[in-house]
Amino acid sequence: MKQLVRLSEQSIEHIKGIGKETANTLAKVGITNVQALLEYFPYRYEDYRLKDLEDVKHDDRVTVEGEVHSEPVLRYFGKKKSRLTLRVLVGRYLITAVFFNRPYVKRQITIGDTVTLTGKWDKHRQTLNVSEIKSGEVKRKNDYEPVYHVKDKLTVKGLTRYIDAAFKMYGDKIEETLPNEFLSTYKLPDKAKAMYEMHFPANAESVKHARRRFVYEEFLQFQLKMQMIRKFEREQTKGSAVKYDQTKLTAFIEQLPFPLTSAQDRVVQEILFDMGSHYRMNRLLQGDVGSGKTVVAAIALFAAVTAGLQGALMVPTEILAEQHVASLKQLLEPCGLNVELLTSSVKGKRRRELLEASAAGQIDIIIGTHALIQDEVLFQSLGLVITDEQHRFGVEQRKALREKGESPDVLFMTATPIPRTLAITAFGDMDVSIIDEMPAGRKPIETYWTKPDMLERILNFVSKEIKQGRQAYVICPLIEESEKLDVQNAIDVHAQLTAYYHETIQVGLMHGRLSAQEKDEVMQQFSRNECQILVSTTVVEVGVNVPNATVMVIYDAERFGLSQLHQLRGRVGRGDVQSYCILLADPKSDVGKERMRIMTETNDGFELSERDLELRGPGDFFGKKQSGIPEFKVADMVHDYRALEIARQDASKLIASDNFWEEPRYASLRNHLNETGILKGEKLD
Ligand code: ADP
Ligand code: MG
Repeated sequence: MKQLVRLSEQSIEHIKGIGKETANTLAKVGITNVQALLEYFPYRYEDYRLKDLEDVKHDDRVTVEGEVHSEPVLRYFGKKKSRLTLRVLVGRYLITAVFFNRPYVKRQITIGDTVTLTGKWDKHRQTLNVSEIKSGEVKRKNDYEPVYHVKDKLTVKGLTRYIDAAFKMYGDKIEETLPNEFLSTYKLPDKAKAMYEMHFPANAESVKHARRRFVYEEFLQFQLKMQMIRKFEREQTKGSAVKYDQTKLTAFIEQLPFPLTSAQDRVVQEILFDMGSHYRMNRLLQGDVGSGKTVVAAIALFAAVTAGLQGALMVPTEILAEQHVASLKQLLEPCGLNVELLTSSVKGKRRRELLEASAAGQIDIIIGTHALIQDEVLFQSLGLVITDEQHRFGVEQRKALREKGESPDVLFMTATPIPRTLAITAFGDMDVSIIDEMPAGRKPIETYWTKPDMLERILNFVSKEIKQGRQAYVICPLIEESEKLDVQNAIDVHAQLTAYYHETIQVGLMHGRLSAQEKDEVMQQFSRNECQILVSTTVVEVGVNVPNATVMVIYDAERFGLSQLHQLRGRVGRGDVQSYCILLADPKSDVGKERMRIMTETNDGFELSERDLELRGPGDFFGKKQSGIPEFKVADMVHDYRALEIARQDASKLIASDNFWEEPRYASLRNHLNETGILKGEKLD
């Protein structure tokens, strides 16, 4: 019986060659049992297959064989640093091989020698930065070798020996964890074989094959988990069915200043359906900048209020809170609702009154920043919680707000379209609504990328637009992590532009160091066209709405991320005349240039986010801290996207079928869910 040995319960000290001391060293990289050791996969492989340099990309690692063509030249800088260079004839190429800080290599080399070199290829300089050198023609045991993360006393060689010993002792105890049907459908290798291949690859192809199996398995387990949470949330959490007043709601929608787009109409129906049902809504509303999410929020809030409930809207910045208060008041107050702002700038008596009124249920809708989740904020009957730009809030903050009511419905809004891959991983436990249509009459914004030395021409263009009655934003350089320097930049640019336009054009200034009241004044001036240019830091990034502004100039655009550029660009193009976005940038890197190109090529937030993800990778997409993106051991969400899609569909079929809950062949997948606590009904967030 295989089942008798659980590898996760076997101490690694049972393995030949591992004593107490080694066990401690292994524990430092998280290897505490036999299973963990077997699953300690290489993070990459060294490819020693010889390649033609023609086919090697810039910065790729490569192994080549060649003939030493020149005396090595050794240079020292300081005491310890040195650089050794020599010319090597590799096929048709005469390349430069460089060795850093390994002066002793000089002694090993003579002109005419055949050497095998492994290193990073600088295609532009035709230079190989060598990490390994072997003399003569090398016959390796393997031309594809694993590379592991090791530290302290742990070496790759030692690790390989322990893993080998572990396979000898326990190899036949490795249990299959995927049902046969998946192995055969997708032609995946069985677990023991795949594990062995990961550590002792026959060749590059066999690793690829083995890897596919673990990628699929990780995704399947992950998707089962996410979908179970979602199912659990739906079935077990008692949300209350919101009995909103359909007649009043219809009347409200009819009196809006514009008819809803069909996309808005669809998402409104989705939201109302959730609110009216017995489970708690947990829905993500995605819509590009300017697609009209605010009015959707207003309708949902209105519906909650007609059922005698309160609503809360949490946003990341004060300026956005104020903007939302202004637009929601305009929409909701004429219909008798009362809408209030709560931020940290609301102080003293006013604050106390507000808090009391909220606790007594006298305020229908509160809009605010993080201030909303402080303990002192109470509601009488919080029925709907909306967060805007939700990726800026951590899981904890979202939860804190939700817990202010008894299982209120929750709607997350975001104008950063989330690539599908991330949507089904980071937010797989949510339902998703998408507004994929712009209100009628919008003209696509024309975007140009120019070098900073064209500034003068750009400023002339801006003044031409202003002569036609339009307005412009000028966004200042962003300095990483330093609001103070950002502010200084804005002040400088403001002074320059004021001087440049003399008194002909009024230039306003906005930045994060202004008080809420000052910001408000500047915004008011700009929206009344009392100033025609608004110089600003990125505080205008979200939410600000001045339809008469048609030009967005962004200094040093290469310093901004794609989604931030897109957000900024979304400040214009809000009326029915042609708008422009001008990126002043001189990016040095290829990725930087690519980003500028993408901006000029597409206005579609979803397309842009997909391409951003490709350029940046999932970890960076939302920012490091609170990405909510799970860590996979083997899988990579971006590159293994197809497997993720397939695993998602398989997971949902499994969960829906009775077999899954009964048959032994699914036991291992069920056990995995068990370990996460979902089946016991524990909440996971
Ligand atoms: P976002 O999705 O970026 O939050 P907003 O809700 O601020 O977008 O809407 C952008 C602008 O479009 C606002 O001026 C809003 O009044 C207008 N708008 C929203 N929906 C419609 C519609 N269906 N028809 C016309 N204009 C609309
Ligand atoms: Mg908005």
